[in-house]
Amino acid sequence: MRSHSRPVLAANWKMNLGPAEASAFLDGFLSRYAPRDDRTVVLFPSALVLAAVRERTQPRPDLRLGVQNVSTEDKGAFTGENSAAQAAGAGASFVLVGHSERRHVFGETDAQVAQKCARVTEHGLVPVLCVGETIEQRERGETGEVVLHQLRAGVSMLSHEAIRDMVVAYEPVWAIGTGRNATPQDASDVHLVLRAALAGLVGEDARAIPLLYGGSVNAKNAASLLAAQEVEGLLVGGASLDPVQWAEICGS
Ligand code: PEP
Repeated sequence: MRSHSRPVLAANWKMNLGPAEASAFLDGFLSRYAPRDDRTVVLFPSALVLAAVRERTQPRPDLRLGVQNVSTEDKGAFTGENSAAQAAGAGASFVLVGHSERRHVFGETDAQVAQKCARVTEHGLVPVLCVGETIEQRERGETGEVVLHQLRAGVSMLSHEAIRDMVVAYEPVWAIGTGRNATPQDASDVHLVLRAALAGLVGEDARAIPLLYGGSVNAKNAASLLAAQEVEGLLVGGASLDPVQWAEICGS
Protein backbone atom coordinates (compact mmCIF):
# COMPACT_ATOMS: atom_id res chain seq x y z
CA MET A 1 0.00 0.00 0.00
CA ARG A 2 1.49 3.30 -1.03
CA SER A 3 -0.16 6.58 -0.38
CA HIS A 4 -0.08 9.13 -3.11
CA SER A 5 -1.88 7.35 -5.91
CA ARG A 6 -4.01 5.34 -3.53
CA PRO A 7 -5.84 7.12 -0.72
CA VAL A 8 -6.81 5.15 2.38
CA LEU A 9 -10.42 5.52 3.52
CA ALA A 10 -10.83 4.08 7.00
CA ALA A 11 -14.10 3.52 8.88
CA ASN A 12 -13.92 3.47 12.67
CA TRP A 13 -17.23 1.98 13.80
CA LYS A 14 -16.26 2.30 17.47
CA MET A 15 -18.64 0.31 19.72
CA ASN A 16 -21.43 0.33 17.14
CA LEU A 17 -22.98 -2.28 14.80
CA GLY A 18 -23.46 -5.87 15.92
CA PRO A 19 -23.20 -8.75 13.42
CA ALA A 20 -26.75 -8.33 12.06
CA GLU A 21 -26.41 -4.56 11.78
CA ALA A 22 -23.01 -4.91 10.10
CA SER A 23 -24.53 -7.30 7.61
CA ALA A 24 -27.33 -4.80 6.82
CA PHE A 25 -24.67 -2.07 6.49
CA LEU A 26 -22.73 -4.22 4.02
CA ASP A 27 -25.87 -4.88 1.95
CA GLY A 28 -26.21 -1.13 1.53
CA PHE A 29 -22.53 -0.33 1.09
CA LEU A 30 -21.51 -3.15 -1.25
CA SER A 31 -24.45 -2.44 -3.57
CA ARG A 32 -23.24 1.16 -3.92
CA TYR A 33 -19.46 0.83 -3.89
CA ALA A 34 -18.02 -1.16 -6.78
CA PRO A 35 -14.50 -2.60 -6.53
CA ARG A 36 -11.83 -0.09 -7.51
CA ASP A 37 -8.08 -0.32 -7.54
CA ASP A 38 -7.24 3.35 -6.95
CA ARG A 39 -7.99 3.38 -3.23
CA THR A 40 -7.92 1.23 -0.13
CA VAL A 41 -10.99 1.01 2.08
CA VAL A 42 -10.43 -0.28 5.61
CA LEU A 43 -13.28 -1.19 7.94
CA PHE A 44 -12.65 -1.23 11.70
CA PRO A 45 -15.63 -3.07 13.22
CA SER A 46 -15.83 -4.26 16.81
CA ALA A 47 -13.48 -7.23 17.25
CA LEU A 48 -16.56 -9.38 17.95
CA VAL A 49 -17.97 -8.51 14.53
CA LEU A 50 -14.75 -8.90 12.53
CA ALA A 51 -15.47 -12.49 11.44
CA ALA A 52 -18.96 -11.61 10.18
CA VAL A 53 -17.61 -8.66 8.20
CA ARG A 54 -14.73 -10.71 6.86
CA GLU A 55 -17.11 -13.34 5.52
CA ARG A 56 -18.93 -10.70 3.46
CA THR A 57 -15.90 -8.72 2.26
CA GLN A 58 -13.30 -11.40 1.60
CA PRO A 59 -13.81 -11.58 -2.18
CA ARG A 60 -12.97 -7.84 -2.42
CA PRO A 61 -9.20 -7.18 -2.37
CA ASP A 62 -9.89 -3.42 -2.21
CA LEU A 63 -11.63 -3.86 1.16
CA ARG A 64 -9.39 -4.49 4.15
CA LEU A 65 -10.14 -5.04 7.81
CA GLY A 66 -8.75 -3.80 11.06
CA VAL A 67 -9.36 -3.80 14.80
CA GLN A 68 -9.73 -0.73 16.99
CA ASN A 69 -7.30 -1.73 19.73
CA VAL A 70 -4.99 -4.52 20.87
CA SER A 71 -3.29 -5.40 24.13
CA THR A 72 0.27 -4.40 24.95
CA GLU A 73 0.79 -8.09 25.76
CA ASP A 74 1.05 -11.10 23.48
CA LYS A 75 -0.86 -13.65 25.55
CA GLY A 76 -1.72 -14.66 29.09
CA ALA A 77 -3.97 -13.74 32.00
CA PHE A 78 -5.38 -10.47 30.65
CA THR A 79 -9.13 -11.05 30.83
CA GLY A 80 -11.07 -9.16 28.20
CA GLU A 81 -8.08 -8.18 26.08
CA ASN A 82 -7.32 -9.12 22.45
CA SER A 83 -3.77 -9.59 21.20
CA ALA A 84 -2.22 -8.49 17.92
CA ALA A 85 -1.63 -12.17 17.10
CA GLN A 86 -5.34 -12.88 17.58
CA ALA A 87 -6.24 -9.91 15.40
CA ALA A 88 -3.93 -11.17 12.65
CA GLY A 89 -5.38 -14.68 12.91
CA ALA A 90 -8.91 -13.30 12.68
CA GLY A 91 -8.18 -11.53 9.38
CA ALA A 92 -7.23 -8.00 10.43
CA SER A 93 -4.51 -6.21 8.47
CA PHE A 94 -4.61 -2.88 10.34
CA VAL A 95 -4.89 -1.79 13.98
CA LEU A 96 -5.89 1.62 15.31
CA VAL A 97 -3.38 2.59 17.99
CA GLY A 98 -3.64 5.59 20.30
CA HIS A 99 -7.09 6.72 19.19
CA SER A 100 -8.07 9.78 21.24
CA GLU A 101 -10.82 7.79 23.00
CA ARG A 102 -8.21 5.25 24.11
CA ARG A 103 -5.94 8.03 25.32
CA HIS A 104 -8.54 10.30 26.93
CA VAL A 105 -11.32 7.92 28.04
CA PHE A 106 -9.18 4.92 28.99
CA GLY A 107 -6.05 6.81 30.04
CA GLU A 108 -3.75 5.06 27.58
CA THR A 109 -0.21 6.40 27.94
CA ASP A 110 2.44 7.14 25.31
CA ALA A 111 4.39 4.14 26.63
CA GLN A 112 1.42 1.83 26.07
CA VAL A 113 0.85 3.28 22.61
CA ALA A 114 4.50 2.53 21.78
CA GLN A 115 4.20 -1.05 23.06
CA LYS A 116 1.01 -1.59 21.07
CA CYS A 117 2.64 -0.31 17.88
CA ALA A 118 5.49 -2.74 18.50
CA ARG A 119 3.15 -5.72 19.09
CA VAL A 120 1.17 -4.84 15.96
CA THR A 121 4.19 -4.71 13.68
CA GLU A 122 5.72 -7.86 15.20
CA HIS A 123 2.65 -9.72 13.94
CA GLY A 124 2.79 -8.27 10.44
CA LEU A 125 -0.07 -5.84 10.91
CA VAL A 126 -0.07 -2.15 10.04
CA PRO A 127 -0.52 0.28 12.92
CA VAL A 128 -2.63 3.35 12.24
CA LEU A 129 -1.09 5.63 14.86
CA CYS A 130 -3.54 8.36 15.88
CA VAL A 131 -2.26 11.71 17.12
CA GLY A 132 -4.04 14.96 17.87
CA GLU A 133 -4.31 17.90 20.21
CA THR A 134 -7.13 18.94 22.56
CA ILE A 135 -8.86 22.28 22.10
CA GLU A 136 -6.96 23.71 25.09
CA GLN A 137 -3.63 22.65 23.58
CA ARG A 138 -4.64 24.15 20.26
CA GLU A 139 -5.62 27.45 21.86
CA ARG A 140 -2.26 27.56 23.62
CA GLY A 141 -0.53 27.11 20.25
CA GLU A 142 0.82 23.67 21.20
CA THR A 143 -0.57 21.61 18.31
CA GLY A 144 2.79 20.94 16.62
CA GLU A 145 4.52 20.09 19.88
CA VAL A 146 1.73 17.71 20.98
CA VAL A 147 1.45 15.76 17.74
CA LEU A 148 5.22 15.49 17.40
CA HIS A 149 5.54 14.19 20.93
CA GLN A 150 2.79 11.60 20.31
CA LEU A 151 4.33 10.59 16.98
CA ARG A 152 7.87 10.19 18.31
CA ALA A 153 6.68 8.30 21.38
CA GLY A 154 4.42 6.05 19.30
CA VAL A 155 7.17 4.94 16.92
CA SER A 156 9.91 4.76 19.55
CA MET A 157 10.04 0.96 19.54
CA LEU A 158 9.70 0.51 15.76
CA SER A 159 12.36 -0.34 13.20
CA HIS A 160 12.97 1.80 10.13
CA GLU A 161 10.99 -0.70 8.02
CA ALA A 162 8.06 -0.78 10.45
CA ILE A 163 7.85 3.03 10.44
CA ARG A 164 8.01 3.10 6.64
CA ASP A 165 5.08 0.68 6.44
CA MET A 166 2.81 2.33 9.00
CA VAL A 167 -0.08 4.76 8.65
CA VAL A 168 -0.44 7.95 10.72
CA ALA A 169 -3.78 9.64 11.36
CA TYR A 170 -4.02 13.25 12.50
CA GLU A 171 -7.21 13.48 14.51
CA PRO A 172 -7.63 16.70 16.46
CA VAL A 173 -9.55 15.77 19.62
CA TRP A 174 -11.76 18.85 19.27
CA ALA A 175 -12.93 17.66 15.86
CA ILE A 176 -13.83 14.08 16.76
CA GLY A 177 -17.57 13.57 16.92
CA THR A 178 -18.22 17.30 17.28
CA GLY A 179 -19.38 18.24 13.79
CA ARG A 180 -16.48 20.73 13.67
CA ASN A 181 -13.86 19.50 11.20
CA ALA A 182 -10.42 20.98 10.70
CA THR A 183 -10.15 23.01 7.51
CA PRO A 184 -8.17 21.44 4.66
CA GLN A 185 -5.48 24.07 5.34
CA ASP A 186 -5.33 23.17 9.07
CA ALA A 187 -4.97 19.50 8.17
CA SER A 188 -2.24 20.24 5.59
CA ASP A 189 -0.30 22.38 8.04
CA VAL A 190 -0.18 19.62 10.65
CA HIS A 191 0.49 16.91 8.07
CA LEU A 192 3.51 18.88 6.84
CA VAL A 193 4.88 18.96 10.39
CA LEU A 194 4.30 15.20 10.74
CA ARG A 195 5.89 14.48 7.36
CA ALA A 196 8.99 16.47 8.25
CA ALA A 197 9.35 14.58 11.53
CA LEU A 198 8.92 11.24 9.74
CA ALA A 199 11.57 12.30 7.23
CA GLY A 200 13.86 12.96 10.17
CA LEU A 201 13.29 9.37 11.28
CA VAL A 202 13.30 7.42 8.00
CA GLY A 203 14.49 9.88 5.35
CA GLU A 204 13.02 9.53 1.85
CA ASP A 205 10.93 6.57 2.98
CA ALA A 206 8.70 9.02 4.83
CA ARG A 207 7.06 9.87 1.48
CA ALA A 208 5.46 6.42 1.46
CA ILE A 209 3.67 6.80 4.81
CA PRO A 210 0.00 7.66 4.30
CA LEU A 211 -1.10 10.56 6.49
CA LEU A 212 -4.84 10.46 7.16
CA TYR A 213 -7.07 13.20 8.52
CA GLY A 214 -9.91 12.34 10.91
CA GLY A 215 -12.48 14.42 12.76
CA SER A 216 -16.09 15.10 11.67
CA VAL A 217 -15.51 14.00 8.09
CA ASN A 218 -18.74 13.56 6.13
CA ALA A 219 -19.88 13.17 2.54
CA LYS A 220 -19.94 16.96 2.09
CA ASN A 221 -16.41 17.77 3.29
CA ALA A 222 -14.56 14.56 2.34
CA ALA A 223 -13.51 15.61 -1.17
CA SER A 224 -12.03 18.95 -0.10
CA LEU A 225 -10.13 17.38 2.80
CA LEU A 226 -8.84 14.61 0.58
CA ALA A 227 -7.67 17.17 -1.98
CA ALA A 228 -5.58 19.03 0.62
CA GLN A 229 -1.81 18.86 0.37
CA GLU A 230 -0.31 15.93 2.31
CA VAL A 231 -3.74 14.44 3.11
CA GLU A 232 -3.68 10.92 1.73
CA GLY A 233 -6.73 9.45 3.32
CA LEU A 234 -9.48 9.89 5.87
CA LEU A 235 -10.36 8.22 9.16
CA VAL A 236 -14.11 8.50 9.66
CA GLY A 237 -16.24 7.71 12.69
CA GLY A 238 -19.92 8.72 12.73
CA ALA A 239 -20.38 9.13 8.96
CA SER A 240 -18.94 5.66 8.32
CA LEU A 241 -21.96 4.08 10.04
CA ASP A 242 -24.27 5.15 7.23
CA PRO A 243 -23.71 2.92 4.18
CA VAL A 244 -24.93 5.55 1.73
CA GLN A 245 -22.72 8.28 3.14
CA TRP A 246 -19.76 5.94 3.53
CA ALA A 247 -20.05 4.83 -0.11
CA GLU A 248 -20.07 8.48 -1.13
CA ILE A 249 -17.01 9.25 1.00
CA CYS A 250 -15.16 6.26 -0.44
CA GLY A 251 -15.96 7.52 -3.93
CA SER A 252 -14.76 11.09 -3.16
C1 PEP B 1 -12.92 8.87 14.92
O1 PEP B 1 -13.50 8.36 15.86
O2 PEP B 1 -11.80 8.43 14.58
C2 PEP B 1 -13.55 9.97 14.22
C3 PEP B 1 -12.85 10.65 13.37
O3 PEP B 1 -14.87 10.21 14.53
P1 PEP B 1 -15.86 11.25 13.77
O4 PEP B 1 -15.68 11.04 12.29
O5 PEP B 1 -17.23 10.85 14.23
O6 PEP B 1 -15.47 12.61 14.17
